[in-house]
Amino acid sequence: MTTSRVEFGDVLSMVPKEMAALLESLGVPRFRAKQLFEWLWRHGAESYEAIQVWPKDLREKMTARHPFQRLELVQQQVAHDGTTKLLLQMKDGQRVETVLLPHHYGYSVCVSSQVGCAMGCKFCASGLKGRVRQLTAGEMADQVAFGNQVLRERGAKISRIDVMGIGEPLDNYANLIRFLELVHDPESLNISYRHITVSTSGLVPAMKQLADSGLPVTLAVSLHAPTDALRLKLMPVNRAYPLAKLMPMCRYYAETTGRRVTFEYLLLNDINDGEAEARQLAELVRGFPSHVNLIPWNPVDEHPFQPSPRDHVRRFQSIVQDYGISCTIRRELGQEIDAACGQLRLREEETVSP
Ligand code: SAH
Ligand code: SF4
Repeated sequence: MTTSRVEFGDVLSMVPKEMAALLESLGVPRFRAKQLFEWLWRHGAESYEAIQVWPKDLREKMTARHPFQRLELVQQQVAHDGTTKLLLQMKDGQRVETVLLPHHYGYSVCVSSQVGCAMGCKFCASGLKGRVRQLTAGEMADQVAFGNQVLRERGAKISRIDVMGIGEPLDNYANLIRFLELVHDPESLNISYRHITVSTSGLVPAMKQLADSGLPVTLAVSLHAPTDALRLKLMPVNRAYPLAKLMPMCRYYAETTGRRVTFEYLLLNDINDGEAEARQLAELVRGFPSHVNLIPWNPVDEHPFQPSPRDHVRRFQSIVQDYGISCTIRRELGQEIDAACGQLRLREEETVSP
C-alpha cells in the first residue's frame, strides 16, 4: 500500500515492513520490528533505551545509527471546556500546533500537516508566512500519540482525527497517506479510516488520488464561496482549480468512496454570508451526498474581515436547510485560547523573534 519512500533513518515514519527491512539489513531478526513498532506507538518510547525487551547491544546500535526524536512540548493552553492547544517542537526546531477537542464520544485531534502553508487563503493565519516545510508522516502521527499522552491523565483518549490543522494535507500527499497507514495500524494507534477526516482547500488532482487510494477517509472541502468570482478573492487556489473542476471531483469522491463529502463554509460578515450566497451554495452542493459545516470565523489581526453576526449565521443555515441539505454550525470550542489555527505558532514566533 505504501508508495512513498521514507528516509532510511526516519524510523518514526516507517511502517512495520520497512522496520523489518531496516533491522534485517543490520542482521537483526524480523520479529524485533514488531517490538519496535509497538514500543514506539503503543508505549510511546522516548528512546531505544526504553525498549526493555531488546538486548543492550541492539539498543546501542540503533541509538548510534538511527536516532529519532519525539515531539517536545513548548506550550500548552487548556480552555474551560477541555479544548487543549499544544505547541510542539520538532527536531529541527520548527513548531506545529495540535488541538485536542472534547465531544460527547471522546476527543478528536486536529493534526497539522505542514509548517506554514503555501495556499495563501486571505482569511487564514497559517499561510501568512508561506510554507516552511512538509511534515513527515512520523511528525504527524506523533501529534496523535502526544495528544493521547496528554489525555491519559484525564482518563480519555483520541477516537477521531481531523487533518485540519496548519497546512494543506493534499500538498503533502505521500506523507499524508503514510500517516494514515501509521495511525490506522492495529499495532499502533488503531484509528479506523472512517474516523479520519482530511480537509483540503481543493487540490483536485490529489483529491482524485485520494478517492482512488481505497482508503475510506472522509473528505472535507473548504469551499467558503459559492461562485468563482468570490472564491478567487478569498482563495488563490481557485485560479488553478475553479468550481467547474472542483465540484465534479467532489461528486467523484462521494461516488468512489461511498462517503458523504463535507463542505466547510467560513462566514465572513457581508462578504459571503448573504441570502444569495446561501442559495448559490445550496444549488452547488445538492444532488449528491453532502454536508455543509458553517464555521464562525476566528479573527486574525492581519486580515481585514469581521465574523458574521449570529443572525446572519442562522439565516444562512436555514436557507441551506430549506433545500434539504444537512447543514450544521461548528461549535465554538476553546474560545478563550488562541483559537484560530496557526495563531499560537505565529504568536510564539513573534515573541521569540520580534
Ligand atoms: N488546508 C486545509 C486544512 C487546514 S485549514 C484546508 O484549507 O481545508 C482547516 C479549516 O480551517 C479550513 O476550512 C480553513 O478554511 C479554516 N480556517 C482557516 N482560517 C480560519 C479562521 N481564522 N477561522 C476559522 N476557520 C479558519
Ligand atoms: Fe492553507 Fe488551509 Fe489556511 Fe488556506 S485555509 S492557507 S489551505 S491552511
